[in-house]
Amino acid sequence: MKKVQRERVQKLIAPYRVTRGKDFRLQDISPGDTAGLKSGDKAEAKDLLALGIDWLAEQQDMLYAQDRWAVLLVFQAMDAAGKDSTIKHVTSGINPQGVAVTSFKQPSSEELDHDYLWRYMRHLPGRGQIGIFNRSYYEEVLVVKVHRELLARQKLHSSLMTENIWQGRYKDIRNYESYLTSNGVEIRKFFLHVSRDEQKRRFMDRLQQPEKNWKFSSSDVAERQHWHEYQDAYEQAIRNTASEQAPWYVVPADNKWFTRLVVAAAVVDAIAGLELHYPVVAADKIQELAAAMAQLNAE
Ligand code: ATP
Ligand code: MG
Repeated sequence: MKKVQRERVQKLIAPYRVTRGKDFRLQDISPGDTAGLKSGDKAEAKDLLALGIDWLAEQQDMLYAQDRWAVLLVFQAMDAAGKDSTIKHVTSGINPQGVAVTSFKQPSSEELDHDYLWRYMRHLPGRGQIGIFNRSYYEEVLVVKVHRELLARQKLHSSLMTENIWQGRYKDIRNYESYLTSNGVEIRKFFLHVSRDEQKRRFMDRLQQPEKNWKFSSSDVAERQHWHEYQDAYEQAIRNTASEQAPWYVVPADNKWFTRLVVAAAVVDAIAGLELHYPVVAADKIQELAAAMAQLNAE
């Protein structure tokens, strides 16, 4: 990627990138923001997105061949913020063998019988792979924090359920991400930041359009009643876990075309930072290739 292109990508994502949690406030990022792009620029945004997706497909091939780095993309959001469709777009050009999407729902009884990070570890991407978490270990400081009865189900001894439990979990997560980073896992975390009004509009669509009815769940409306608690939990989680090595992107999500563009750009930037190349073929391997060619020519 040319330097000017990389700079353009970085300029687009910079306002949404959080690496120093202390300074972060959710209210500083507006869900309706489009970085000055108008809906008239949508076509251009689409072209850019397509370019980014083609580039990612090429890079993924090198990621796989080089077999040194893994990429973990974490997606978190309120319902109807567009996680699913964003994931679909960003992965659309990638060889299916190199990417795995895992959606995390409520934990099973087997999972509840283990430490809380256990079930996430089992789905981490291997070297050469891109792993996408549709919801993630962050649920452990989001939904579980908003609904304390979920914590009660985690079978912790009462002596471990102290007032400091959330601070403890933020620390666990910071350490966990630092551990993964030192093992070659490149982490990027996305919070798709949708407004309460836009969520309502999308729920209404799901109710009114028969082909969208299947997406509607009454529990989504119930969760909406906890809107402010969730926003607060997100802000705290981001403040406590943003870092240079595992940054958060708080992506405006009221306009889907813009959400996709920013997410794709952030993924492009992450992968560009790895400076991937095809493995250099060793001298003995070159001899082996020459011998194979000679043998084929002799047939
Ligand atoms: P969609 O609604 O687009 O299909 P979704 O991610 O909302 O996708 P659902 O099946 O609707 O999927 O919801 C999954 C639910 O599981 C969410 O409410 C989420 O908060 C919950 N969940 C995920 N992880 C945990 C966890 N560790 N503990 C408790 N609940 C969890
Ligand atoms: Mg849902």
